[in-house]
Amino acid sequence: MSTYSNLLRPLRIAGVDLPNRMVMGAMHTRLETMDRPLERLVAFYAARAKGEIGLILTGGYAPVPEGVMDEGGLVLDKPEQLDGHRTITSAVNGAGGRIVLQILHAGRYAKVATCVAPSAIKARINVHTPRALATAEVWTTVERFANTSALAEQAGYAGVEIMGSEGYLINEFTAALTNLRDDEFGGDFERRIHFPLEIVKAVRARVSPGFMVIYRISSIDLMEGGMTGEEVAEFARRVEAAGADMINTGIGWHESSVPTMAAPVPRAAWIAAIRNVKRAVGIPVMASNRINTPDVAEEIIASGAADLVSMARPLLADPEFARKTREGRADQINTCIACNQACLDRIFTDRVATCLVNPKAGREIEFDDSQTAAPKRFAVVGGGPAGMAFAINAAQRGHRVTLFEAGDELGGQLNMARQVPGKNEFHEMLRYFRVMLGQLEVTVHLQTPVDAESLAARVRAGEFDEVVIATGVTPREPDIRGLNHPKVLSYLDVLGKGAPVGQRVAIIGAGGIGFDVAEYLVGHAEESLQPQRFMDVWGVDTAIHSAGGLKAPAPNVAGRAIHMFQRKNESLGKNLGKSTGWILKANLRKADVAMTAGASYHAVDDQGLHYSVNGEARVLDVDTVILCAGQLSNRALADGLAERGIPAHVIGGADVAAELDAVRAIDQATRLAVSL
Ligand code: NAP
Ligand code: SF4
Repeated sequence: MSTYSNLLRPLRIAGVDLPNRMVMGAMHTRLETMDRPLERLVAFYAARAKGEIGLILTGGYAPVPEGVMDEGGLVLDKPEQLDGHRTITSAVNGAGGRIVLQILHAGRYAKVATCVAPSAIKARINVHTPRALATAEVWTTVERFANTSALAEQAGYAGVEIMGSEGYLINEFTAALTNLRDDEFGGDFERRIHFPLEIVKAVRARVSPGFMVIYRISSIDLMEGGMTGEEVAEFARRVEAAGADMINTGIGWHESSVPTMAAPVPRAAWIAAIRNVKRAVGIPVMASNRINTPDVAEEIIASGAADLVSMARPLLADPEFARKTREGRADQINTCIACNQACLDRIFTDRVATCLVNPKAGREIEFDDSQTAAPKRFAVVGGGPAGMAFAINAAQRGHRVTLFEAGDELGGQLNMARQVPGKNEFHEMLRYFRVMLGQLEVTVHLQTPVDAESLAARVRAGEFDEVVIATGVTPREPDIRGLNHPKVLSYLDVLGKGAPVGQRVAIIGAGGIGFDVAEYLVGHAEESLQPQRFMDVWGVDTAIHSAGGLKAPAPNVAGRAIHMFQRKNESLGKNLGKSTGWILKANLRKADVAMTAGASYHAVDDQGLHYSVNGEARVLDVDTVILCAGQLSNRALADGLAERGIPAHVIGGADVAAELDAVRAIDQATRLAVSL
């Protein structure tokens, strides 16, 4: 086992002593839009400080109202706003932590009509066209960054992070693509970097020497018209000379057409770009993006590519990441699987972030984890995400739990997901569940189907106090003639049992699972495990010789002819996750996967799939038809118990199958466990 000697080495930056090299990266959570926002933020950050994270970076605060992420977004520009901040900093400091305020001016990404930018060029991800700042206004903005920094120091923060990456205002100044100015803040490279350098200097001048000034640089823009690697290195040197104490690294812009942090991105994928910054400067450099385990983090620091690692989503997933690392309990870390389902996808659709694997994230005040005064004996039936999450959370509170699983392994639908390219991280989720079930001494019976009669008898005999049914779902069989034809398979056969699939395939149903099956069948290499392949396919020049680090993408053809169908007359994949659906769709487009909406299915026979679109009958000659037509709740056991007068708690897909997802299943299970 690694001792994580690099990760656990203390570091002094400006006047601040960090006990380790693990940093919670800034994340916009939108917690401020919920009830009791301050209480929530305090509980959220304090839990991470108690978990021994070396440093916390807040979500971004705008230095001016027009720089907010969206209407009602966070601003720190007046002394009257300091009380709430003082509550946060004293809670974090009281819990033994250190917290830095991130200053983020959203520029042309601000979802407000008053948004501003270096030039009036609309971002493709915003409906608003920005107004170009006048030269005098740029100077005022520089001063406003300094003002916010001074306020942050008064509020008790250990420093500020100036957000200069991800395509926000400062990054818009540094890239030729978005900066068409011809004044002292735009034109050539020197003038484009003038704005951030003036900000760093102004901030440094307004705060004490012991107050940490961090600059987040865009280490690879992944946009045509971004910086070259040489320019990034020169800019980093100038940021250091301007007075920054540390550099954090950002990857790509929010509108880049290369995935930068979703699960298909290999772990530590961006290390070459980060190393380029590290080589250029003498101050500490922080690595970021797709770093989700202590082993990956340790390796990055040991390799000399960076001095610290910034992890945002992994700290949503497990507030105790750092403590478990120090205590040699890395196998008990609830690992972020980079799904984005409950964090970024929610933020991008104006909802509040939480975490698929940890529903308590951002909802700390809603969960009372205290030990129960009256331990009970629970029978849990079903070893999928809902059953396992309930078992772990109930056992953590002191209940005794017995878990019955009919199959020969735990995991349920997770065992399908982990077969899909780009979903390799689901293995970590299963590892966490298995380790914790063992650690908490949950009695697990595999290959043990449970029938209502015998379970009812055991409850009546006093063996169990309460029953939790998490028996999951069964695939829906659509009403199509010929479903008993040998060429028809269900997604369970394909993903679960590895059934052979022909060269010409029809997929019926285009929900999350239909897309997963298509991705699986396209036969692309597992790019998330092959960094160079990932870079080639997505067109990334890791040496960053080109502006923005882009090159022509390599072709990625399919090993099969695949045709996806749905009945609804709308584009396929419309409801996939905002931050990941486009990646799946781009992959399938490259592989020439055909997609048909508005289909009516008639029959499957030797000729293939008979269907019609707009009343026109067609036949698709295929070797295999795969049913991905959604799910039905598996409630037989729950109904059988009810008939016998035994009450049971029904959770997960067994409760509601429609749009079943792991976020809802785990949240429901966890809430039930803390309520009993
Ligand atoms: P789903 O998202 O509900 O999709 C079911 C599909 O089957 C739809 O395309 C639906 O389209 C079709 N369908 C429904 N009833 C039908 C019928 N009677 N005959 C023929 N077609 C029918 O379910 P899923 O794909 O099984 O996924 C389950 C859940 O897992 C998802 O909701 C998602 O949350 C989660 N998941 C997500 C992802 C992801 O986002 N990448 C991946 C895997 C799973 P029409 O009704 O238009 O035909
Ligand atoms: Fe990570 Fe998914 Fe949780 Fe987001 S929702 S923090 S990506 S596990």
